[in-house]
Amino acid sequence: MPTYVYRCEKCGERFESLRSMKDADAPIECSRCHSMQTKRCLTTCGVQMSGGSSSHSSSGSSCGSCSGGSCSCCGH
Ligand SMILES: [Zn+2]
Repeated sequence: MPTYVYRCEKCGERFESLRSMKDADAPIECSRCHSMQTKRCLTTCGVQMSGGSSSHSSSGSSCGSCSGGSCSCCGH
């Protein structure tokens, strides 16, 4: 069973959950504030790669699910 990463839109908490694929997009309760306003992230979402020399590429998107402007998933 894959691990999915979810982000709470209410408190910003990110948490992981083991779920079956068919439940991946089903609503899940935030582990911190118990809000149901959560969204599934890609597992790489919001993960900062260490070792980057600068932020020159910040205009790009490191999040596969956002286009760099209004991502409620990774905060871009
Ligand atoms: Zn929350």
